[in-house]
Amino acid sequence: MFSGKRALVLGVANKRSIAWAIARRLAEGGAQIAFTFQGERIEKSVRELAESVSSPLVTELDVRDDAGIDRVFGEVADVFGGELDILVHSVAFAAAEDLEGRFTDTPRDRFWMAIDISAYSLVATARAAEPLMEQAGGGSIVTMTYLGGERAVPHYNVMGVAKATLDSSVKYLAWDLGQKNIRVNAISAGPVRTLAARSIAGFPTMEAIVEERAPLRRHVDADDVGAAAEYLLGDGAKNVTGTTLYVDSGYHAMGM
Ligand code: NAD
Repeated sequence: MFSGKRALVLGVANKRSIAWAIARRLAEGGAQIAFTFQGERIEKSVRELAESVSSPLVTELDVRDDAGIDRVFGEVADVFGGELDILVHSVAFAAAEDLEGRFTDTPRDRFWMAIDISAYSLVATARAAEPLMEQAGGGSIVTMTYLGGERAVPHYNVMGVAKATLDSSVKYLAWDLGQKNIRVNAISAGPVRTLAARSIAGFPTMEAIVEERAPLRRHVDADDVGAAAEYLLGDGAKNVTGTTLYVDSGYHAMGM
C-alpha cells in the first residue's frame, strides 16, 4: 500500500508511542521512514525501533527550534531525493503541574509553551514539508488530537486548549495546501496508555469512563490508531482532508 512512499514520523519515544504504531503500519506497507526524536534520553530506544524498519534517517528535533526544523527537512530532502509523501505529527507537551489542579491557574509562559509544542509545531513542519510534497506531486499529513480540545475534560486543562488550536490549524492548513494536493487530517484517539498519557493526573478515570460510557464499552489501543492513520495516509483517502477521524470506541457521540 505504501510501496515507494517516503515518510517522516515525529513523536516516537518508545514502543508504546502512537507514532510507532503508525510507523509500523507504514513499514509493513513498504514505506521508507525517517524518524525524529527529542532528547538524548530516548535516542537509544528510537534508534533501535528505527533500525528494525531499516530507516534511512534518525535525527534529533525539538519542534520549538525553527533552525532545527530547517535542518531536519534538509536531511529528509537529502535521503529522499528532494521529495516527501507522508508526514506524521504525533507530538505534544504540557508541564505536569498544568495537567492537574485548575486550568484557571495556568501561567502565561506554560500556556504558550503547550501551544507552541503541541499545535504550532504542526504549522511549522507542514510548511517545511510543503516544497518536498509538492515535488512528489502531493502528500498526506496526519496529526493526533483528543476530544479535550472540543469539550472540557477535567485535568486535560491547557492541553485541551492546545488541541483546539491544533484542530483549527488542521482545517486552515488543509485549505492552503489542498491546491498542491497535500491533505491534512487529524485522528482523535480515546485514552491509550503511553508515556505522555501517564503525565495526565486523571488518566485512569478517563479510561474507566470510556469503558463505562462509550458505545463499544472498550479501550482503544495504539494499533487501532495505526490502522486509522494507514487509511488517512493512503490513497484510499485521496479525497479526505481537513477532517477528524475518531478512534475512541464511539465515546465522542455520547451526551453523558
Ligand atoms: P508519547 O509520549 O509516546 O509521544 C509524545 C511525543 O512527543 C514524544 O515522542 C515526545 O518526545 C514528543 N515531544 C514532546 N515535546 C517535544 C518537543 N519539544 N519536540 C519534539 N518532540 C516532542 O505519547 P503519545 O500518547 O503517543 O502521544 C502522541 C500524540 O497523541 C500526542 O499529540 C498526544 O496528545 C496524542 N494523543 C494521545 C492520546 C493518548 O491517550 N495517549 C489520546 C489522544 C491523543
